[in-house]
Amino acid sequence: MQIINPATEEIIKDIAEDTKESVGDKFRLLKAAQAGWHSVPLQQRVQVLKNFSSLLEQHIEALASVLTSEVGKPLQQSRNEVNGARARIKWLTENAEKYLSEETMTVDKGLEEKIAYEPLGVVCNISAWNYPYLVGVNVFVPALLAGNAVMYKPSEYATLTGLEIEKLLKQAGVPRDVFHVAIGGRNTGEYLLDLPFDGYFFTGSYKTGKYIYERVAPKMVPCQCELGGKDPLYVADDVADIKSVAAATADGAFYNNGQSCCAVERIYVHEKVYDRYVDEFVKEVSTWKKGSPTEQGVYIGPLTRKDQLVVLDNQITEATQKGATVIAGGNRISGKGYYFEPTVVINANHNMSVMREESFGPVIGIMKVKDDDEAVTLMNDTDYGLTASVYSSSQDRAKNILRQVNSGTGYWNCCDRVSAAVPWSGRKHSGFGSTLSHAGLRAFTKPKAYQLRG
Ligand code: NAD
Repeated sequence: MQIINPATEEIIKDIAEDTKESVGDKFRLLKAAQAGWHSVPLQQRVQVLKNFSSLLEQHIEALASVLTSEVGKPLQQSRNEVNGARARIKWLTENAEKYLSEETMTVDKGLEEKIAYEPLGVVCNISAWNYPYLVGVNVFVPALLAGNAVMYKPSEYATLTGLEIEKLLKQAGVPRDVFHVAIGGRNTGEYLLDLPFDGYFFTGSYKTGKYIYERVAPKMVPCQCELGGKDPLYVADDVADIKSVAAATADGAFYNNGQSCCAVERIYVHEKVYDRYVDEFVKEVSTWKKGSPTEQGVYIGPLTRKDQLVVLDNQITEATQKGATVIAGGNRISGKGYYFEPTVVINANHNMSVMREESFGPVIGIMKVKDDDEAVTLMNDTDYGLTASVYSSSQDRAKNILRQVNSGTGYWNCCDRVSAAVPWSGRKHSGFGSTLSHAGLRAFTKPKAYQLRG
């Protein structure tokens, strides 16, 4: 397998993919080691994951550089990602004892009723490339805290980062056979689906998630899917400062080149503020520096995957054929690397894929709406349900809208953010189950009910 730098198209490394046999061997080692890890007191497991976080801090420059070289995100965004992962580990380690320890529910006349949170066993984590630290940490950190052994399959586009993660986890004190990495793409994923893991935790596209869910179903083990989105954002007519709203929401759409599961993917603007908003939005986009992700100050680097350039070309061609107007960008940037101009499409509508299918790139569609009801109808007119956002000076108004939108997260005056304190979950084609929060810690456990009379 070749690791390619998306900014230069150079081959960084040739690396051997795992085979069916090597994946099977790793599985058996994980299986043998898991009970020993579970018998390590929780406080010690917590300490090991805290050590991992310290190592991330210590090596942040080298890690950011590896990440940028294989996924192409601007270096500062790679540093932000490692720091973001540390913030999640902090919350998870600080709350592990509270949510993973045995709970006494009732004590009554010699009868005690308790819940113990037992680990699932050996879990399989098939992961995505767009935020390998963040989406990885969501899974393998709580899984390890809960006493599981983990087979981690990084995306084939983030392999080197996956290997860095493995190295640092082991340096931090995770026993050698409690965490293994499976290297490769679809074929390696298939080998993992053939094995009898005790749980599957997938982050990736709806298409692959649906397939994995179907394949895992007969095993009767937990299968959790964090999938794509087409996240809507509504700008109401009472926003106080259009310029700052335009800047914040443009960042929500274009950060990491739009390659975020919770990137703002479609924007609805109240007709009273539409023209001013669009004007400020385009002004903001025009200020961004484009270029090599290793260059200081660059905000728009290359896309990670070459194939996505075609998806963006097609969305823009179709939208313009159906009456939309491109008022910024619209084209690939010539030369080496998978670069695409940040693109703003107005007069978009729901007959266009730019408003219906995940763009996962630097393209945003904007639509004018006449009132909140029309915004709600359009926000819900989607197969997805990850996040939704409302900008308004009234929390009541925003919450009234968000209550009606079928999404796992609702944002008021913010967007494109994830917090470890609250569940991260999708609805409809965005998946199901939660990571992060107390729900995300317990997702890696099976409750055992004890009814003890004596
Ligand atoms: P993808 O579905 O192409 O791949 C995801 C993983 O599945 C990779 O590791 C890949 O090798 C593996 N895979 C592919 N085919 C497989 C098969 N047949 N069997 C087993 N494994 C297989 O997704 P991607 O391009 O890596 O990630 C982008 C997608 O992930 C976007 O849709 C994005 O929105 C979504 N995502 C969601 C979240 C979330 O939290 N909801 C977070 C990040 C990314």
